[in-house]
Amino acid sequence: MTIDLAAFAKEKNVKYFMISFTDLFGGQRAKLVPTQAISDMQKDGAGFAGFATWLDLTPAHPDMLAVPDPSSVIQLPWNPEVAWVAGNCVMEEQDVAQAPRNVLRRLIDEAAKEGMHIKTGIEAEFFLLTPEGDEISDPFDTAAKPCYDQQAVMRRYDVVKEICDYMLDMGWGPYQNDHEDANGQFEMNWDFDDALITADKHSFFKFMTRSVAEKHGFRATFMPKPIEGLTGNGCHAHVSVWDAPGADSNTNVFADSNKELGLSDKGRAFLGGIMKHASALAAITNPTVNSYKRINAPRTISGATWAPNTVTWTGNNRTHMVRVPGPGRFELRLPDGAVNPYLLQAIIIAAGLDGVRTNADPGKRWDIDMYAEGHKVTDAPKLPLNMLDALREYDKDKALKEMMGIEFSNAYLKLKHQEWNSFVSHFSKWEKDNTLDV
Ligand code: ADP
Ligand code: MG
Ligand code: MG
Ligand code: MG
Ligand code: MG
Repeated sequence: MTIDLAAFAKEKNVKYFMISFTDLFGGQRAKLVPTQAISDMQKDGAGFAGFATWLDLTPAHPDMLAVPDPSSVIQLPWNPEVAWVAGNCVMEEQDVAQAPRNVLRRLIDEAAKEGMHIKTGIEAEFFLLTPEGDEISDPFDTAAKPCYDQQAVMRRYDVVKEICDYMLDMGWGPYQNDHEDANGQFEMNWDFDDALITADKHSFFKFMTRSVAEKHGFRATFMPKPIEGLTGNGCHAHVSVWDAPGADSNTNVFADSNKELGLSDKGRAFLGGIMKHASALAAITNPTVNSYKRINAPRTISGATWAPNTVTWTGNNRTHMVRVPGPGRFELRLPDGAVNPYLLQAIIIAAGLDGVRTNADPGKRWDIDMYAEGHKVTDAPKLPLNMLDALREYDKDKALKEMMGIEFSNAYLKLKHQEWNSFVSHFSKWEKDNTLDV
């Protein structure tokens, strides 16, 4: 049954709705709509000038409407008179094809037609910094191996507890929080769910974490490598495929106890698709200039980057791009904190579905310490070394581009190439330091 937002507001004393959508660069855009106006907006959507966001629209395009998906509505736990609701971008009655939530919805439908219902859980690591963002917020958090540091996590208990309490109230099933492998870094985990729900929760988690951090006088960042020499912010995705969505699912289609690592033939082919398209999908999972300072990185102060550099997979071993931690699921360790929550889910489905359709083989499994023994792997591609290489790999991968939608792929490539050009036209100190006297 569709939730009536006006009735929801009345019951919960909501005064404003934040109708939100996510653009191609992961920016969260919203209008604050007073409850009196929400009935019309639920039907017609809130209007935006698309050109003013990163969607590759022109100033001459007609109004873009974000039509709320009422099933996504969440009352802000830290400000209950406001409710957040994810919107689907529509223009002249058509879904805006390149809008990330629409890309994902279309791929979920495609997979569903083939009896595949993707469920995922993500690990959105973040740092707590000073408000200006130049240093970690806790001057005592200096250990060389700070992972799971119990003293340091308690010094940020007020922030971590507040976010976790909210996840408990929202029924997300949070189950653990810790200090992660870099000074100033944290991770909070909650239960996996259907891909669209996980994408909405992922965007809401970023909004919530930033908001709660600000309230406590800190700055939360999901930037892939905010501090040189320390472990970066990953956003691992755990993936399984089920016979039905939501609570109707009974069977994990990826699980087969008779097969290698408990991964069914379908799961293996899906993984094959991820492996086949890995270098190209990095353009989505590792979307910024800074992303490439996390993957392919030199050893960090803690001893390991925990990020991959090569397209390899393995069993329960964290040094590879894909880990199969247990039967019936795999973990993609490539994505970083800059990943767009909707495009992350979309690219996994696009690559995996193509893998299933083509019965792709994931190749040899490597059970080695990839950080120490990576030189033994001679036949696996290296991940792209920078954003431009990744964009070129994506552009070359016709099948993946089509799976993601040509309008999306063209818009994304165009805007990201512009971003790259802006980066390389920036004069850096490095150039003077190294070439002043050439
Ligand atoms: P790790 O740090 O060992 O990689 P975490 O416990 O931090 O693992 O995160 C695991 C994520 O995987 C959680 O979001 C969890 O709900 C999710 N997950 C567990 N089982 C499955 C599954 N079958 N399908 C999809 N996601 C899963
Ligand atoms: Mg105006
Ligand atoms: Mg984890
Ligand atoms: Mg982690
Ligand atoms: Mg992980």
